[in-house]
Amino acid sequence: MSADLTLALIDAAATAIAENAEELTRLDQAIGDGDHGSNMQRGLQAILRQREALAALGPGEALQKAGMTLVTTVGGASGPLYGSLLMAVGKAAQAGKGWPEACAEGVEAVKRRGKSDVGAKTMLDVLVPVVEALAAGKPLAELRLTATASREATKEMLATRGRASFLGERSRGHYDPGATSTQLLIHAVCDVLEARA
Ligand code: ADP
Ligand code: MG
Repeated sequence: MSADLTLALIDAAATAIAENAEELTRLDQAIGDGDHGSNMQRGLQAILRQREALAALGPGEALQKAGMTLVTTVGGASGPLYGSLLMAVGKAAQAGKGWPEACAEGVEAVKRRGKSDVGAKTMLDVLVPVVEALAAGKPLAELRLTATASREATKEMLATRGRASFLGERSRGHYDPGATSTQLLIHAVCDVLEARA
């Protein structure tokens, strides 16, 4: 991965989160504790501060370093979860695995860290179907649609993991904040890759 692709991905991710931080906070106010926007902002700001250093690394190392940054700077459940995702994807990439397989390992790391899986109204409800579509060789446009539809589907789900699970049935009728940030980040990555295709 070229240094300028790394820079473009970091900048696109940071912009997507900055532009939608209020919305992420609003969603987390409804079914959590209202910090998802600020948690994600803090993480992306820390990664932005390292953008030149990250761009100087290979993709596997850059992802691992960015993941560690998220684990250490973001409070809340989402920091360690997104951090585990990036660290595992980076580790697999560095071991020579292709992106679909590396991303699948990342998703498994999130499941282990969160003791969770699809159907619990979390970021996994977007991550799992998108990574499955990637493994099936679907084009970027389809990954984008899968992310949107999967995030939509979290609205009527019952939360059984994370803070939203404390609300029981009252968790229904609201989009999951983490599924929303995952969708935003996937769209940001697709935008950058499509612009270069
Ligand atoms: P916190 O819940 O600690 O306040 P955030 O608000 O930053 O952390 O992140 C909340 C999001 O994290 C949720 O919307 C959900 O998508 C995700 N999440 C929480 N717990 C889990 C879990 N056990 N497994 C997967 N994702 C989870
Ligand atoms: Mg929260």
